[in-house]
Amino acid sequence: MPPAPLTVPAAGHPAPPAPARAAHGRGRGCVITRRARFSASHLYRLPELDAAANQERFGPCSLEPGHGHNYELIVAMAGPLDADGMVLNLSEVKHAIRREVTEPLDFRFLNQVWPEFDLSRPEGCLPTTEALALAIRRRLAPHLPVVGLRLYEHPDLWADVLAGPTIDPMEAFLSIRTHFAAAHRLAREELSQTENEAIYGKCARPHGHGHNYLLDVTVRGTIDGRTGMVCDLAALQRLVDELVVERFDHTFLNKDVPHFATCVPTAENIALHIADLLSAPIAASGARLHKVRLQESPNNAAEVFAEAPQLEMAPAALEALAAVG
Ligand SMILES: [Zn+2]
Ligand SMILES: [Zn+2]
Repeated sequence: MPPAPLTVPAAGHPAPPAPARAAHGRGRGCVITRRARFSASHLYRLPELDAAANQERFGPCSLEPGHGHNYELIVAMAGPLDADGMVLNLSEVKHAIRREVTEPLDFRFLNQVWPEFDLSRPEGCLPTTEALALAIRRRLAPHLPVVGLRLYEHPDLWADVLAGPTIDPMEAFLSIRTHFAAAHRLAREELSQTENEAIYGKCARPHGHGHNYLLDVTVRGTIDGRTGMVCDLAALQRLVDELVVERFDHTFLNKDVPHFATCVPTAENIALHIADLLSAPIAASGARLHKVRLQESPNNAAEVFAEAPQLEMAPAALEALAAVG
């Protein structure tokens, strides 16, 4: 049967009503995020250790009477849209976060605010970024359809926790950000200059050029019931400093880092090499390397998901959180 001819409504006549559709996206799924901020202090000092042992284990974080941070919280929630076109009414979200999290925590001493951080109880743990993220998830989950939560203690240190029936409730992702400056030239040795320029453009110019690289390293692990940590943060920072920053900073990568004598130092290859350098030492420290993100310029970045199967390791909630950060 031939298709019905298109009819154009005559001038002056209203267009016929659109066919009935789900009103305002009702029933379709969406992830939404909400940001909140609070300031709080904390102290890393376990009562079963003496001052010297606390100092050795937690460094300046163990100094009395504690120190503070300006925290930033991002909550990701998911669900079907209601008839008003929303997963949830944002004022409900705002009030739940304020009532459960920011009011109890803002301008407080975290060690005293919630029973999770009462160290006189055997089940109490230090109020680390990851343990605090977990405690916040526990308080928000009964009120909001939380799928993930990111907590920044500082722009260079943050924790992510996910939520859902298949999620290990004690698992967290901890990320640190650092940077290095390096030069590179993109060219394959076996090709002519003209061929290299056809592939890599200006990046193939013979004397190289440089970038201020931003490096984010994310580890994944189980939060220790007493220290509240997925890994020893200072040790992680030392590993990244020694294995990456010290070796790459202020170098010409092609000449100064042996790996790049034969491997073109694209952002992708640098990120992969960093993941290869860090994977085993991080595994030896008890956590797992989850992701390396290398930002070469404001316009480009490379991300390597270090756990197999590689291309399936991109939890949607984490992506939504990252986009806000
Ligand atoms: Zn601190
Ligand atoms: Zn470049």
